[in-house]
Amino acid sequence: MSRVRLLVFNQALPVLDYRVPDGMVVEPGSVVVAPLGPRQVLGIVWEPERLPGDQVAESRLRALIEVLPVPPLPAPLRRLIEWIADYYCASLTSVARMALGSAAALRGGGTMTEYRLTGEVPARLTPQRAAAIEALEGEQATIRELAEKAGVSEGVLRGMAGAGLLEPVVVDLDRPYPRARPEFAEPVLSPDQQAAADRFIGAIRSAGFRPFLLDGVTGSGKTECYFEAVAEAIRRGEQVLVLLPEIALTENFLRRFEARFGVPPVLWHSSLKSTERRRAWRAIVSGEAQVVIGARSALFLPYARLGLIVVDEAHEVSFKQDDGVRYNARDVAVIRARFEQIPVILASATPALESMQLAEAGIYEKIDLPARFGGATLPHVEIVDLRSEQPERGRWLAPRLVKELKERLERGEQSLLFLNRRGYAPLTLCRNCGHRFQCPNCTAWLVEHRLSRRLACHHCGHETGIPEACPECGTADCLVACGPGVERIADEVRELLPEARIAVVTSDTLNSPAKIAEFVEAAENRMIDVIVGTQLVTKGYHFPELTLVGVVDADLGLEGGDLRAGERTYQQIAQVAGRAGRGEKPGEVLIQTRHPDAPVIEALASGDRDSFYAAEAEARRDAMAPPFGRWASIIVSAEEEAEARDAARAIGASRPDLPDVLILGPAPAPLSLLRGRYRYRLLINARRSAELQHVIRQWLEPLRFSRDVRVAVDIDPYSFV
Ligand code: ADP
Ligand code: ZN
Repeated sequence: MSRVRLLVFNQALPVLDYRVPDGMVVEPGSVVVAPLGPRQVLGIVWEPERLPGDQVAESRLRALIEVLPVPPLPAPLRRLIEWIADYYCASLTSVARMALGSAAALRGGGTMTEYRLTGEVPARLTPQRAAAIEALEGEQATIRELAEKAGVSEGVLRGMAGAGLLEPVVVDLDRPYPRARPEFAEPVLSPDQQAAADRFIGAIRSAGFRPFLLDGVTGSGKTECYFEAVAEAIRRGEQVLVLLPEIALTENFLRRFEARFGVPPVLWHSSLKSTERRRAWRAIVSGEAQVVIGARSALFLPYARLGLIVVDEAHEVSFKQDDGVRYNARDVAVIRARFEQIPVILASATPALESMQLAEAGIYEKIDLPARFGGATLPHVEIVDLRSEQPERGRWLAPRLVKELKERLERGEQSLLFLNRRGYAPLTLCRNCGHRFQCPNCTAWLVEHRLSRRLACHHCGHETGIPEACPECGTADCLVACGPGVERIADEVRELLPEARIAVVTSDTLNSPAKIAEFVEAAENRMIDVIVGTQLVTKGYHFPELTLVGVVDADLGLEGGDLRAGERTYQQIAQVAGRAGRGEKPGEVLIQTRHPDAPVIEALASGDRDSFYAAEAEARRDAMAPPFGRWASIIVSAEEEAEARDAARAIGASRPDLPDVLILGPAPAPLSLLRGRYRYRLLINARRSAELQHVIRQWLEPLRFSRDVRVAVDIDPYSFV
């Protein structure tokens, strides 16, 4: 090959041709460095026929500079990158970037230097050094990462290294990971579990694309089943990717993995340290990493020998990425498995309607685990109608729920109260003038957090202290909290059951692996009587002594009214209910609601999941919503309201007129101000037969906007705000 076409990491010039100098060997997928003007850019050699661009005359071609010492991106991954860019209306460059993961790792292995405290503490310290020493206890990372951790400048830390307070540690980036042992602790499976495991193992042995939907009730041992598939892939020398929706779940998962395979898996998520990231990337690319547990970004890495993908809690909405490339990791996992010709397992107790439909159509093979493992029974569910069983004034828990809580406490059993709202109260206002505390950057109220004594925006992170007096009218002590968050519920429990030991579990309180581990240990050792938590506690955990789950406000998720509100409410409540009665003692679930006859609440009460899915499917069919029709949204944003509005109007004015495509808007988005940007939205509803992406591309491509305007396309959106 003397002339090559590159996909270049440059938004303006993504496709460029180069000459391959004598003696250099490249092939499609090779990662190379090329000259671009006076600078150098990274590029990936691509099949020219798949990458449209202008032919440059032979004489004007510049020579590649070097080939980086990593294996070429394999063809199935290149095809996946193309597919994603095409399907989600994203640029190839932005998708390909996710495959490279760590630019630094491309430079090869070798070593990196991290620093840690020497333990020496001089008698006199500057306040900054003292703070750094306090913050960095037990940490080891690069200077830059430590500086971020400690909240001091890198200069301060370099000074400390010079003074002998920090010492360098050389980290070998290619040091091997310990080998997982498929036979380390093999479980005895129930007949149902064994049948499921056998299907997976058969699929791995016969190779080829095989999508499975593992539909098992909470506590049925889905993890145990797919671990057998993982074991088989390991035996065959193939790599496995297990996607988890939330880093908070990994702690629990890691322990189970280690108990089963004798060693921890390789981790991939956004908060890895740079040395960990480089090491993991290199081991994934070389094939050395056997099992990777990752967040959704792990889907794009260049595995050398991928043999199986598992998506656990596959219904989770957090698999949908809502910025940058707006993809759904659950769907992309299936597409990747197809390009790689391998099996993929979607595991869930509450599958997404889309997945159920694909199983019904015979495209996914559905595997059922209808019973809990070990004879545990599913919890008994009861509805508390808040219209007739009212909590006391200023309280949120109905008398029946309070009575059940008391009984659990007396019996030494655990309870879980679920409310998907962080903080103390979602709205604070002035009793005197009615002033409401609003975020300056977003269309949102500030949420009071009493534990940290702040008012915070849950969209942009804006925070202020809680003032003594109203900033509007100046009256002192006049602020009232409206509505409950988990902290307020915890206060109520504290008043009702003064002797109960209470844990508040949210992303505010459980914000590190260490804190999560601490919580799990405390709960397992029965040091906690009542857990009050957000959706963070709805899944994954297995506390045998937990016998009561109270859903504080089942109607909360139904309010927004987007097309998945019913399904999401069903999933959340079914998952949190699934925490009850997992041991020998039966579980009880009380659901507080003002709409006991809403279909989703009735389905939860009767346990009639199938008719709920059927009703939900009917409603979606009528609305031409997924999976029967398709939605897309175009979100236009700018810091100046007028710019966003004008751009949205321009898009609206050039809308295509097609019989099977309905276009709504533009209109201000429900969250019309987000992180300081004004937002307008158009919604597109199309029949499945319409070439939605093609239509959108043709529509938007000729339009030009001012530089401050951003236009994002969201295909199959989950968020309608
Ligand atoms: P799910 O993910 O389906 O809710 P889990 O995989 O968490 O269920 O299993 C529930 C509990 O039962 C876990 O503590 C798990 O270790 C245990 N368990 C499931 N299957 C087996 C088995 N075959 N042998 C031993 N323990 C099992
Ligand atoms: Zn905000």
